[in-house]
Amino acid sequence: MGRAGWVAWFFCFATGCTGPTSLRTDTPSTTSVAPTPLPPEKLSSASSDTPSEEMAAWQPLTRWAVSRGFPPPRIMETGASFGCAFGPNSHQWLFQAGSTLASWNGIQIRLGFAPQWINQDFWLHGLDIAKHIEPLLGPSRIHLRTPPRVVIDPGHGGQNTGARSIHDGRWEKEYTLDWALRLHARLIAHGWEVILTRRHDVDVSLTDRVAMAEATSADLFVSLHFNAMDNGILASGLETYWTTPAGMTSTIHRGYDDNPATVHPNNAFDEANFQLAVRLHRSLLLHTGLADRGVRRARFMTVLQGQNRPAALVEGGYLTHPEDARRIADPTFRERLAEAVARALLCLPEDSSW
Ligand SMILES: [Zn+2]
Repeated sequence: MGRAGWVAWFFCFATGCTGPTSLRTDTPSTTSVAPTPLPPEKLSSASSDTPSEEMAAWQPLTRWAVSRGFPPPRIMETGASFGCAFGPNSHQWLFQAGSTLASWNGIQIRLGFAPQWINQDFWLHGLDIAKHIEPLLGPSRIHLRTPPRVVIDPGHGGQNTGARSIHDGRWEKEYTLDWALRLHARLIAHGWEVILTRRHDVDVSLTDRVAMAEATSADLFVSLHFNAMDNGILASGLETYWTTPAGMTSTIHRGYDDNPATVHPNNAFDEANFQLAVRLHRSLLLHTGLADRGVRRARFMTVLQGQNRPAALVEGGYLTHPEDARRIADPTFRERLAEAVARALLCLPEDSSW
C-alpha cells in the first residue's frame, strides 16, 4: 500500500424532507445483462498512457470528482485524524486503500471493491461509483404512488422460528411480528397503505412473501429480522441489506452461490434499493443507538432478489448478544425500532433529493 491510506471527500447538497412527490414509473426488467468483470486483487500499474483492460473499470477519484464539479478529494495519511468541520448539509465519504469498508456521513458502507492507491491518487471501481456513490448524490430513485403502498415483512413465523434470544428464550419470529405491528400502526396513522406478509404466528414461504408484494403492486418492500451468530463470536449491532448489483460480490453469502454474473429482477432497482437501505440504516442508528455493522449486500435473500420494487432487509440487532438481546426484549426499544423505520419511510414521498 502507498503512503496515504485514507481519503476524505467533502461536498454539499441541499437535504431535507422537501420536494415534489413523483409517481412510480420504473419498469422492472428481468433480462440479463453482462456484468462488469471482476478486477484483479491489486492493479499492477497506473503509469501507462494506454490503460489496460483491468484499469478501464477503475477511475481515479480526483478526476471523477472534478468531472462532476466537486472539490478534489482530500488525502490524509494513515492513522491521522480525519476530523473536520462540516456544515449541516455536507456529505462526507471516507475511503481506505485496500479495504472495502467505507464511511458515508459516519455510516458504514461496504463497497464492492477495495479502493486502490496508485500514483498519488485513489482509484475506485466504476461499479462502486455507479452503485454506491452516485445514488447518494440524488435525486431520489424511490417513486411512490399517493398514498404510498408498502409491504412490511415480519421475518419467520410458525415452524420457522428464526433465532432464539439468549436473554429470554423467545424466538425471532415473535419479535419481528411485534416490530411489524408497531410499524404498521404508525404508517397507517399517516395514511399509508400497509400490507403485512403475516399478522399471526404462521409460516409464510419466502416466495409467497414476494408474491404478496407483486399481487398488491406495492411500491416498497421492507423485511424485518433479528440477527444471530452461532460460531461463538459475540457480534452486535445493526445490519441493513440490499440486493447485490450484477458484477459485484456480496458482503455475505452464507454458503449460497454468489455468482457476480447473476441478474435478479430486483437489480432493476439497484439505486433505489441502496437509497432505501441507507435511509433505513441511518434512521435506525439514530433512534436506537445500535452499533453500526454497515449497509451490506446479499444475493441469496429470496425475499429481496425477486422483488419488482425497491426492497431492503433490516437485521435489528443480535439475539445472540447479551446486550442486544436484552434491549430487543424491551418493548420500549422495539417501539424505537418501529419509530425509526416509520420515520425513514414517511420522509420518502416528500424527499426528492438527499
Ligand atoms: Zn431472520
